[in-house]
Amino acid sequence: MGVSSNESLANLLKEERRFAPPAELAAAANVTAEAYKKAAADRLEFWATQARRLTWDIAPTETLDWSNPPFAKWFADGKLNVAYNCVDRHVEAGHGDRVALHFEGEPGDGRTVSYAELKDEVCRAANALIELGVKAGDRVAIYLPMIPEAVIAMLACARIGAPHSVVFGGFSADALATRIADADARVVITADGGYRRGKPSALKPAVDEALTRPGTEKVRNVLVVRRTGQETAWTEGRDLWWHDLVPRQSEQHTPQAFDAEHPLFILYTSGTTGKPKGILHTTGGYLTQTSYTVHAVFDLKPETDVFWCTADVGWVTGHSYIVYGPLSNGATQVLYEGTPDTPHQGRWWEIIQKYRVSILYTAPTAIRTCMKWGEDIPAKFDLSSLRLLGSVGEPINPEAWVWYRKYIGADRTPIVDTWWQTETGAIMISPLPGVTTTKPGSAQHPLPGVAATVIDDEGNEVPNGSGGYLVLTEPWPSMLRTIWGDEQRYLDTYWSRFENRYFAGDGAKKDEDGDIWLLGRVDDVMLVSGHNISTTEVESALVSHPKVAEAAVVGAADPTTGQAIAAFVILRGSATEEEGLIEELRAHVARELGPIAKPKRILAVAELPKTRSGKIMRRLLRDVAENRQLGDVTTLTDSTVMELIQSKLPAAP
Ligand code: ATP
Ligand code: MG
Repeated sequence: MGVSSNESLANLLKEERRFAPPAELAAAANVTAEAYKKAAADRLEFWATQARRLTWDIAPTETLDWSNPPFAKWFADGKLNVAYNCVDRHVEAGHGDRVALHFEGEPGDGRTVSYAELKDEVCRAANALIELGVKAGDRVAIYLPMIPEAVIAMLACARIGAPHSVVFGGFSADALATRIADADARVVITADGGYRRGKPSALKPAVDEALTRPGTEKVRNVLVVRRTGQETAWTEGRDLWWHDLVPRQSEQHTPQAFDAEHPLFILYTSGTTGKPKGILHTTGGYLTQTSYTVHAVFDLKPETDVFWCTADVGWVTGHSYIVYGPLSNGATQVLYEGTPDTPHQGRWWEIIQKYRVSILYTAPTAIRTCMKWGEDIPAKFDLSSLRLLGSVGEPINPEAWVWYRKYIGADRTPIVDTWWQTETGAIMISPLPGVTTTKPGSAQHPLPGVAATVIDDEGNEVPNGSGGYLVLTEPWPSMLRTIWGDEQRYLDTYWSRFENRYFAGDGAKKDEDGDIWLLGRVDDVMLVSGHNISTTEVESALVSHPKVAEAAVVGAADPTTGQAIAAFVILRGSATEEEGLIEELRAHVARELGPIAKPKRILAVAELPKTRSGKIMRRLLRDVAENRQLGDVTTLTDSTVMELIQSKLPAAP
């Protein structure tokens, strides 16, 4: 469903709270307001300067080639090696002893990997892939748990110019098979299993099954890391243990310089709105922007900070903010294998206390889950090392934002709400922690060098105080180059809705100050009695009620109003579904947003359908609310969630 031409997205929510940057952080910030001025004066020169933060074998003289839009080339005459930039150069600069990874296994085992060790491991793994016949340009599928080998494997591929396609360890054999086939991979790197929720969870059987499917025949080898030690079926000649092949390799490997536009990886989108798209990212521009954004948005000080991004490497956040962005800056990071509630609901806070994490980057879904569990859990741990918090993946409800700041950040740490997508490769819209006075729930400003705005159906920029579609109006270094193997879908999905502007698929509004608020997917916008209402705003109103931890709303077809709002809520820890609560919640939304936004139906549920990356899949809830057969559920974390929700619904009228 689109947005009708003469109605803009409703602009209902009022959020008045403001948080200025802490003086100390602002005084020492990596990036100041000066950056906006520089970028505004000369955007391309600004990015050329950021590219010089990297080490190039051949420095680029060209910045952007936009002669064949929307196919961009950035720094096209430059050459560099990504793995060299992420590892070797830090060792050469004398930081070999610095910790690159504090690995924390779910069972409590751990391993510290220094930059010098990481360099040796990446070189050995690169040599191993070469022994397996992998050449520059060959695709390698990676299906691993969150263990150091995941990072090592990605960097080894980058080092030899073999684009990787990382697939979530939680995906099924089917999802894995389609991704292997689509990318036409030659080698799969996996593990016997990983630890999830207190027990070993096998991975190799899914690979074995995937490789029986059509389209996967060209996979020659499966390289298997031993993580859990569980029984593992073996195909002689095809399967190899990592510990047999990799440790015997030389730790010497001369990195080859690749063209800035050499493909770095293919990654499939989360599939929140439909069939996943194989997003192609290349080398120089991608590394420039992921590296710059870690420096600017997270204000990373590599000598003193400990950075922890809780995403899985199977998601773009893991690619850009565990592997390429932080490592290219020489960061010390935490890498955690397991779930936040194993063996107890304070595990994350215990990890922060243990490693003195100073920058935490996580998703609203995790914050809302912690709200549901209650603030007394983080209160038991020493979180005083934290100085900056980040959020990504969905709009963060103002109430969740304030909770995050208060109970995790001791009412002291800035929060950066970062908007971006698999397609954008790196953060695009976000506050700068030493500059921006933040507003709970708003991503606020395009970063220096990024051109984003909100437009209406006719493509006109909306005035402050109005809503419409989020678009990017200039190419950016880490932009996707195409959809792998489907140029037409690339053009149709992103570049056909508005001329010369990238259509992000998200609704947004500009407030009276011109700051950007994300309002949810355009596909999810509700049309009630002729008014466009954003899912995000109704959800945020529900979450602002003290008894609600999480909410998902959808518009369901309604004979009188066109669509009627149906809401699904998860209650906070101590709250119960007592008499009158549903009525109270409906009245609360009407009070917060106006009677037009009052949900027709509210259902209290235990869980919501989410993608593996933690995003709510509203289209499935819409299917339920409209009594339809469920659409594609392959990227869903847990398919039993939908059965539970369906069983709570009254029978169709
Ligand atoms: P698909 O494109 O297959 O439906 P997806 O869009 O969920 O999947 P991702 O690339 O992981 O795949 O997610 C990007 C989307 O996540 C954005 O388009 C936006 O809807 C949402 N998002 C990410 N960060 C934010 C944020 N800070 N605020 C609001 N929304 C966000
Ligand atoms: Mg998307």
